Amino acid sequence: MFHQAVWDEKLIIEKSGNRTLKLPFEEIRMEVNLPKELIRNELNINDNEEYEVIRHYVRLSQMNYGVDVNTYPLGSCTMKYNPKISEEIVSMDQVKYIHPFQDESTVQGSLQIMYDLQEFLKEIGGMDAVTLQPAAGADGEFTGLLLVRAYHEHRKDLKRTEIIVPDSAHGTNPASSTMAGFATIEIKSNENGMVDLEALEAALSDKTAAFMITNPNTLGIFEENIVKIAKMVHEKGALLYYDGANLNGIMGKTTPGKMGFDIVHFNLHKTFATPHGGGGPGAGPVGVKKKLEEFLPVPVIGFDGKNYFFDYNVKNTIGKVTGFYGNFAVLVRAWAYIKLKGGDGLKDVTEMAVLNTNYLRKKLQNYYNLPYKELRKHEVVFSGNNFKQYGIKTLDIAKRMLDYGLHAPTIYFPLIVEEALMIEPTETESKDNMDKFADIMIQIATEAKENPEILKKAPQNTVVRRIDEVEAARNPILSWKMLKK
Ligand SMILES: *Cc1c(COP(=O)(O)O)cnc(C)c1O
Repeated sequence: MFHQAVWDEKLIIEKSGNRTLKLPFEEIRMEVNLPKELIRNELNINDNEEYEVIRHYVRLSQMNYGVDVNTYPLGSCTMKYNPKISEEIVSMDQVKYIHPFQDESTVQGSLQIMYDLQEFLKEIGGMDAVTLQPAAGADGEFTGLLLVRAYHEHRKDLKRTEIIVPDSAHGTNPASSTMAGFATIEIKSNENGMVDLEALEAALSDKTAAFMITNPNTLGIFEENIVKIAKMVHEKGALLYYDGANLNGIMGKTTPGKMGFDIVHFNLHKTFATPHGGGGPGAGPVGVKKKLEEFLPVPVIGFDGKNYFFDYNVKNTIGKVTGFYGNFAVLVRAWAYIKLKGGDGLKDVTEMAVLNTNYLRKKLQNYYNLPYKELRKHEVVFSGNNFKQYGIKTLDIAKRMLDYGLHAPTIYFPLIVEEALMIEPTETESKDNMDKFADIMIQIATEAKENPEILKKAPQNTVVRRIDEVEAARNPILSWKMLKK
């Protein structure tokens, strides 16, 4: 059984004034030529000994959970292990100290990294052009939908005000559609958890701007009619948008381009292993087919055979969507990851992610309800509704998992599965880890029947017990000042 460290740890700023020794370097004063009015005599920063600061942060890390600690099966989020070589590369002076206003001639290496990444993503997505600017998946969706709008407006096809999404869509899809000024039309899924072709046919019209889906979808199921869907959408003069958050289920096997998509966003922080969580950082590059290239945001990274440059020469650009280079450090990590894996390596990633998922599906399907029987790609969604009779909800199962030293899966999403438990093991977990994970899930299923109270009281072994989730979401305390208040 797992027990998280529990330190009665003050905020670092509350620990100030704990000094006994002076460290030798404090006697060294640097002469810096600063204007007088900028020089301050006092600073409100902590003045603890170095070891106090180190202990403080190590203790906090012991009260935390991350992908460097154990399995992190948060469905849809693709919390794979982030290789440390990527961290070494972004920590190099040449990467970390460049300034966005530096002359192009002095940042050729950085521009080359960005150019190469554009090329890699074109190939992985089966697209003709890529912008690296958007700062997250949702930002990529928003950018992609602005491209949809620009495309139709340019063709004087001004009636197209609707975006169709399936009822299994991630919440950001309808949100981005609304942000970009469209009306969102939701269609239901069929009994296999896939797009219902009749519902799609009924929703499509000369008002449709685009159909926005992810494939494999949020259930982890591959849309078997995708080529037919692309044909239906295009015949109506609309575009097909690929939410690339689930690329980990197909990478190297097929591409959105081959399936017939016109626009793709990539979640570099998911598929391409850059650290994320707690809202950032991320990067959501967007790839497009030739017919949309002229609308891409500026600048794209160009190469004239000799030099790399910021290319502002995009004929009907939608403008700029993010400052400077975009989230440059995320781009560099994703580039490093792709270089590290190579084409065959990326294909292996997909195969292992799919194998891990179906291994868990088989091991757990006698213990947790499994809606939809199809083979899964990178993730599998169970339902905890078989424990209702014991008064147990999916939330209780998720909380009990914390007691065993696991991170919880995504719960209550996708909305079309009652009491959903959405598990995405990713390729980075070994068979041994998958077996341990399954054993714990089976143990919890047994506890739910025999000792439901232990689930309702969970977690017991973590530094923070069950919190008031509504209060935490509505009135979060995010700073020292707010805490003091
Ligand atoms: C994560 C995710 C998004 C949004 O991406 P962010 O980078 O979190 O903004 C969109 N769709 C799906 C299916 C996702 O899993």
